[in-house]
Amino acid sequence: MTTANINLPRILKVGGGASRELPLVLGTLGLNNPLVVTDPFMVECGYLERLQADLEDAGLIYGVFSDCIPDPTTDSVTSALNQFRDKNHDGVVALGGGSSLDTAKAVAILALRDGPMRDYKVPYQIDTGLPIIAIPTTAGTGSEATKVAVITDTETNEKMLCMGLGLMPVAALVDFELTLTMPYRLTADTGLDSLCHALEAYVSRKANPFTDSVALTAMRTIYQNIRTACEDPENRSAREAMMLAATQGGIAFSNASVTLIHGMSRPMGAMFHIPHGLSNAMLLPAVTAWSVDESQDRYAKCSRIMGMSDDAKDDKQAVDTLVRELKALNRDLSVPNPAQYGIKESKWFDSLEMMAEQALVSGSPANNPRIPSSDEIVDLYKQVWAEQ
Ligand code: NAD
Repeated sequence: MTTANINLPRILKVGGGASRELPLVLGTLGLNNPLVVTDPFMVECGYLERLQADLEDAGLIYGVFSDCIPDPTTDSVTSALNQFRDKNHDGVVALGGGSSLDTAKAVAILALRDGPMRDYKVPYQIDTGLPIIAIPTTAGTGSEATKVAVITDTETNEKMLCMGLGLMPVAALVDFELTLTMPYRLTADTGLDSLCHALEAYVSRKANPFTDSVALTAMRTIYQNIRTACEDPENRSAREAMMLAATQGGIAFSNASVTLIHGMSRPMGAMFHIPHGLSNAMLLPAVTAWSVDESQDRYAKCSRIMGMSDDAKDDKQAVDTLVRELKALNRDLSVPNPAQYGIKESKWFDSLEMMAEQALVSGSPANNPRIPSSDEIVDLYKQVWAEQ
């Protein structure tokens, strides 16, 4: 008998306006002096100001760190950590995309520890941390509901995967209204990240009945709404659907693991600064095509649940359709290949061995239905370089 181990935030508030419940949640958790961790855009667009007004109306004491950068690094985390320690904060409130959420998560676990973040990358299990309240503004990484943080090591340029219960937010306020400001590209990239979470969680060797149901629901919702959310940014029902599905995608992958797509994507982000969801999307059709034969029934189910195939098609036809439709989705959402993205060809091909090594070290490829060797990962990187 195998038992699935499921971890979730203790408090989940979901729906328009959920972020306004922050003072209530802080009270419930008994937090008296949190550090709000966010990025400069949240200051510029007024989201931080509104959050501060809510905290002040409730008479709460707090600090603000607003210098998070996209794809946080060990250096950028250190700045936030220093501020946290200086003012004796008792928890973190993360406001922003996955980068702000992961910065806050790193602060919450490093505040209890000595030594740099690299000491705590996988396979290390980070069991404890100070309370994290996550308010995502992208739909998205799902980081608000995952026991994961991704931090780039400034010294080695490795995008490190860090895992453990200490990184799981105690509360997540999932408010789709905060995503209405996302421009086309960000909506597409973050939505494709969520789609990969759901699809990878479903085909993962660590999938279980709990994650299966959440992953399938998320993937159907994302596939049905992503084009609308991109083309009609003020469409509230598409935004609401995408936000919920992003959190569900996070829950699914955090409890079932991601697979080869994410394993290969992190080194691309570290090396070429491609936005995370975009590098996933560049890999999605090719890695799926390479993997389908090892788990044809599961990939066929993905094809059917997203409405790409009906029951009249057998599994082989359904997975062929899946690969074709994923390519079409990338085309519709203007996902470039690495060459079109503007990466220098020699730099791409010179980096492949190193990227393959980093992908394998993260452990994610070992969860894939078809487990790749280093050479096979290199071949896949070569294939996606100019794939149409
Ligand atoms: P991000 O946090 O890097 O943000 C990208 C840009 O979008 C920033 O400039 C930000 O200010 C802006 N932005 C955020 N919300 C916005 C909004 N509502 N309107 C307009 N602009 C907005 O983007 P992301 O894709 O959410 O996060 C990516 C990071 O998350 C990567 O480092 C990735 O590795 C990590 N990640 C973490 C997990 C996890 O479980 N911890 C999962 C997947 C990805």
